[in-house]
Amino acid sequence: MNQETNIGWGLIGASTIARQYMVEAIRVQKGNFVQAVMSSQQERADRFAADCAIPAAYSSIEALLADPKVQAVYISTTNELHHDQVLAAAAAGKHVLCEKPLALNTEDALEMVRACQKAGVVMATNHHLRNAATHRKMRELIQAGAIGKPLFARVFHAVYLPPHLQGWRLDKPQAGGGVILDITVHDVDTLRFTLDSELVEVVGMTSSASMAKEGLEDGVMAVMRFENGVMAQIHDAFTVKHGGHGIEYHGEAGSLIGRNVMSQQPVGEVLLRNAEGETQIAIAHEGLYIRGVATFCAAMQGTGRPSATAADGVKSLAGALAVVHACKTGSRQAVRSLTIEENSP
Ligand code: NDP
Repeated sequence: MNQETNIGWGLIGASTIARQYMVEAIRVQKGNFVQAVMSSQQERADRFAADCAIPAAYSSIEALLADPKVQAVYISTTNELHHDQVLAAAAAGKHVLCEKPLALNTEDALEMVRACQKAGVVMATNHHLRNAATHRKMRELIQAGAIGKPLFARVFHAVYLPPHLQGWRLDKPQAGGGVILDITVHDVDTLRFTLDSELVEVVGMTSSASMAKEGLEDGVMAVMRFENGVMAQIHDAFTVKHGGHGIEYHGEAGSLIGRNVMSQQPVGEVLLRNAEGETQIAIAHEGLYIRGVATFCAAMQGTGRPSATAADGVKSLAGALAVVHACKTGSRQAVRSLTIEENSP
């Protein structure tokens, strides 16, 4: 995937995820380098650039997009900003790797995809879990018939939001805060990927136990039905310190148990349980964000497709938004069915 290139990246957003994972994930790709970072505050951009040895620091998107060395952007600002920033990047002819949730509503997300298609640039969504060797192995096993016909899935993703991230996610509805747009959107994407099926309908309930304010939720339980008939239950939270995390798939002939797999780290284990007993599945772990950027680089070169496309980002967002509406209305919510052309430059 890593062919010889010379791609300069601009980081839109001086964020935690950019600092912790993405600068390195870009730098390890052959021929790719981080040219610039942009923050709404010049001081924060300067500090980020100095800390991460990035040559240029800007306080406006116009300045970053005007940098001739920037050919691709990674957008990791708060969620309400993604839409306008993707449109601006597309208009400037830059390839776009955008954070999830792509936008706060499906129409905006679709507009972002169309803008990138029109501009002839690659757009992808940074859903990291599809890049995990654990989830990829479970998908492969299900497709190979290891559990027979899949019937049910269970997602255990109730975790603790660390103190340094206890900001806009908890008190800014206008920034797309709340656990559903933060975590459930990843669950939906992971289930869509592993089951290779689209989400059809959902029911759910939320809680605001102790952290979330301003009408936002810090816990959610939902039940989902997929096109292939699989029912999934999800449990997501910001408030659970010691629950652990994982995912299970139960089929007519066996069950797959993924423990410690809803992680940003290349960790976790997969167990297959069937009539023969329990088998620990061998997993060749690799960096999730590194693999995600590698697939994006291949797409920029026209030699592959991103692991989570722009269309995946829209569909997974539509699923998460259906959970939001189902919880608000207390009713069963159909997920909007979307046919989205893949954008290949
Ligand atoms: P952060 O809160 O770290 O950063 C978001 C924005 O907040 C930044 O762009 C920055 O604005 C501002 N900010 C950062 N630090 C400060 C500070 N000290 N004081 C004031 N403002 C600050 O968010 P995350 O990195 O957690 O998330 C960013 C995006 O990435 C979101 O869309 C989120 O959903 C997504 N995400 C995705 C993950 C994944 O695995 N795919 C994991 C984590 C997050 P400015 O740029 O103007 O400086």
